Amino acid sequence: MHELSITRSVVDICMENAGGRRVCSVTIEIGALSGVAPESIRFCFDACTKGTPLENALLLIEQVAASGRCRQCNSEFPVKTCYDPCPGCGGVGMDLITGDELRVKGLTVA
Ligand SMILES: [Zn+2]
Repeated sequence: MHELSITRSVVDICMENAGGRRVCSVTIEIGALSGVAPESIRFCFDACTKGTPLENALLLIEQVAASGRCRQCNSEFPVKTCYDPCPGCGGVGMDLITGDELRVKGLTVA
């Protein structure tokens, strides 16, 4: 399962950063277009943290809205999919600026 391995790597990153201390809370950022369902991460988190310093830690998920930049006119606009046309010029080529994030933003340790 995709989300399970993602959650495992999130837990690994947190354990490295915590250096053996007990983790109280973890904040992760999930982009709207990352393809990762926050509720699945939440579901896997309990299983992945059992017996680790992260057990019972509070999981805070921040969802990041997607935005892109048009390759033709360089304007920035909110996007719902990677294939949205530019609202300014109608161009179809754009680069994602935000929305594909999946990262540990921060954690608090005891
Ligand atoms: Zn454009």
